[in-house]
Amino acid sequence: MKVTKIMADLQAKYPGESEYLQAVQEVLESIEEVYNEHPEFEQAKIVERMVEPDRIFTFRVTWVDDSGQVRTNLGYRVQFNSAIGPYKGGLRFHRKVTPSMLKFLGFEQTFKNALTTLPMGGAKGGSDFDPVGKSDAEIMRFCQAFMLELWNCIGPDQDVPAGDVGVGGREIGYLDGMYRKLAREYNTGVLTGKGQTWGGSILRPEATGYGALYFTQHLLHKAGKDIKGKKLAISGFGNVAWGACKKAVQLGAKVIALSGPDGMINIPDGITPEMIDYMLVMRASNRDKIEDMAVKFPDKASFVAGKKAWSAPCDIALPCAFQNELSEDDAKELKANGCWCCCEVSNMGCQPAAIHFFQSNGVLFAPGKAVNAGGVATSGLEMTQNASHISWSAQEVDDKLHFIMQSIHEQCVKYGTRPDGSVDYVKGANIAGFMKVAHAMLEQGII
Ligand code: GLU
Repeated sequence: MKVTKIMADLQAKYPGESEYLQAVQEVLESIEEVYNEHPEFEQAKIVERMVEPDRIFTFRVTWVDDSGQVRTNLGYRVQFNSAIGPYKGGLRFHRKVTPSMLKFLGFEQTFKNALTTLPMGGAKGGSDFDPVGKSDAEIMRFCQAFMLELWNCIGPDQDVPAGDVGVGGREIGYLDGMYRKLAREYNTGVLTGKGQTWGGSILRPEATGYGALYFTQHLLHKAGKDIKGKKLAISGFGNVAWGACKKAVQLGAKVIALSGPDGMINIPDGITPEMIDYMLVMRASNRDKIEDMAVKFPDKASFVAGKKAWSAPCDIALPCAFQNELSEDDAKELKANGCWCCCEVSNMGCQPAAIHFFQSNGVLFAPGKAVNAGGVATSGLEMTQNASHISWSAQEVDDKLHFIMQSIHEQCVKYGTRPDGSVDYVKGANIAGFMKVAHAMLEQGII
């Protein structure tokens, strides 16, 4: 395999699909050396097959807004790879959603799910529907219209969607309600992230953030450091950032900055439990403004318009918002302000030049597909509970999540340790995920 040749072919075939091409390039560059040591991979054209989704469903979603106006959006489901299990991955509702974005997310999801140790293939879906400013009734009507098209492409043993940006517990409720009505199936296993009284796993809402902090703990431990007392800067205030803040505070770290599309807030004494609870109110309001936190807690937080969380002096940066949210300039600012570790929690949250800067300037860095895998892993645990008609306690789920994050960290160390003993977590995560999927594809023949 020659990465330059494969990338040139993909660029010619999919011009303008920048996120997808970026995600593929990062993985191929990491695995090139190992791949070329295995002639059987090349013979079965594993890479050429792996970079293409198995199939993409595209559909029109028509709904009526509160003023009675008819609205039309596009909906998608990208079923990327099913070699190690049923398609699995979230749904993203965001005005910028395109096939390129969902292809990149489905591709990443394939490797991430492989890292979880659970049998789940990779998928992603969503819509260019913009939840900002929408009423609860509009969200419900949109979710129902979306599921009207999606329902017969999914199933508990075929494809199991979940949440992602713009899709949380409320949206999963509306989506699942419509699925049940259409499919007349009530065994609750077709979406994950459900409410706890109707099949949802306890701790699923917290799991991505909790898992990210467990991974960060292992990474710090390996580097001879402890998270206690460390200052954290976090971007975003959705479900992922919320879980990360909760666990960070439990572990004795201090969250001193948060950010949103409108700017950032400085929290000199660290985030409090009341502020963490208020993140849920902000998410449900669909206003998408971090300033609301400073308005609610004026003596604890101050708002700075137009700035990112990365301008705050911190030890550890946790991007928890959106792809490519952290640029090379942000990385330089972080380093100049004393930051020595960045664990990417958003999918592909750091631009390639930022990762390169971190890695060549002594800043510990781990990629999203390893750090944020606790979310989908706990979705996998929800699938197991649904299939066996049982519910585990919070302790059982948390123990399993912790064990999975430890195992992901070990896989990164196994495949990413450099000759000097330090760990290249990007390489480690990519090779570990790739090897599992590649071997499954080989064993299943040319299909
Ligand atoms: N959207 C989440 C992710 O990026 C969770 C997916 C899931 O639970 O299926 O991994």
